[in-house]
Amino acid sequence: MFSTGHHRILSVLSRSGPQSRTDLARILNLSKASVTALVRELIERNILDERERVFGFGRPAVMLGLRRDAASFIGISLQSDPVHIVLTDPHGRTHVHKTMPLVTDVEACLEAMVGAVRAVAAEAPEGVGALAGIGIVIAGIVSSDSHVCRISATLGWKDVDIGQRLSALTGLPVFVENDANALIIGEQLFGESGDLPDFSLVFVSEGIGGAHIIGGRLHRGRHGGAGEISHSPIAIDGNALPCRCGNRGCLETLAALPAILGAARRNGLPGDIATIKALAADGQPEALSILHQAGTALGIALSQIIQFIDPARIIIRLDPDLLKSVFARALRQSVEAHVLRRESYETDLVLTALHPRDFATGASSLAAQHFLFGNTSL
Ligand SMILES: [Zn+2]
Repeated sequence: MFSTGHHRILSVLSRSGPQSRTDLARILNLSKASVTALVRELIERNILDERERVFGFGRPAVMLGLRRDAASFIGISLQSDPVHIVLTDPHGRTHVHKTMPLVTDVEACLEAMVGAVRAVAAEAPEGVGALAGIGIVIAGIVSSDSHVCRISATLGWKDVDIGQRLSALTGLPVFVENDANALIIGEQLFGESGDLPDFSLVFVSEGIGGAHIIGGRLHRGRHGGAGEISHSPIAIDGNALPCRCGNRGCLETLAALPAILGAARRNGLPGDIATIKALAADGQPEALSILHQAGTALGIALSQIIQFIDPARIIIRLDPDLLKSVFARALRQSVEAHVLRRESYETDLVLTALHPRDFATGASSLAAQHFLFGNTSL
């Protein structure tokens, strides 16, 4: 295991790329001698290597970088069927990707995950480091120690200590996280928004998830349920549709993929997003209206996030067919219409594609985060 000093060095190199010993000492406010000793240990353990020399006006500097083969991580998404499993390196690159059917029986699921971990590890290409940890993503609420699935409607689980149990079976540290939280941790570690201290992420798939980095840290809330916007009430009139949670008018009943497909079916349209998008692009009135209403509803929810917590950016992860569609345009218009106008600043909305395997790479980033950062924060 690493000391806090090691983790602090690793977190700088992971976030900012290769640095010299002098720069590390300055950034971390440590003595050059301390940095030199810590770096020596990390080089001896094959975690760091020395790279290019930079010839400036002063003495040449040796840059230290995080080795690609320092470790590897497995991410497992139990978020939907099929399960996606990936193997990644410390720079967030995926080297192996597999899928398997989702099984919700806890014992059978554990057995399948052990088999998948073995199969993925066996396919790791030359030059990939030793396995250092596993991340699991679920749709639901996870305990604050990232081990126990408190509740997941998708899996039908309540208080299942899936993390400790898989750890006992594999001998590796295992971290469990909610789907949206895992996506935002992956973004913080390896994405373009990683340097922002305050940003949010919302995804639309079978459900709708939300997560927030506030002051550089994931905001979990008292019970681990912060950011859960799928069941925020958006429609409050008599037409509010019943939701699977038992309430009516939840955001999910208006803007999640099953809601869009359901509305299409009720209007006699084909039940796939690509066709609905194409029909809307051709001006088909029902298709236009369905995507417009769904985008508007999500925009209202995003406006609430902006008013409540004022993030610098909201990353909106969507089915690729919803990008550059009426849905996306209505979403932006809705945010524009509902957020209090501010003179000098506005929240940046970034719409990007969401693929099912992204939840697995988010899961592996949990293990990478623990390996690189421990409990350290800069
Ligand atoms: Zn609901």
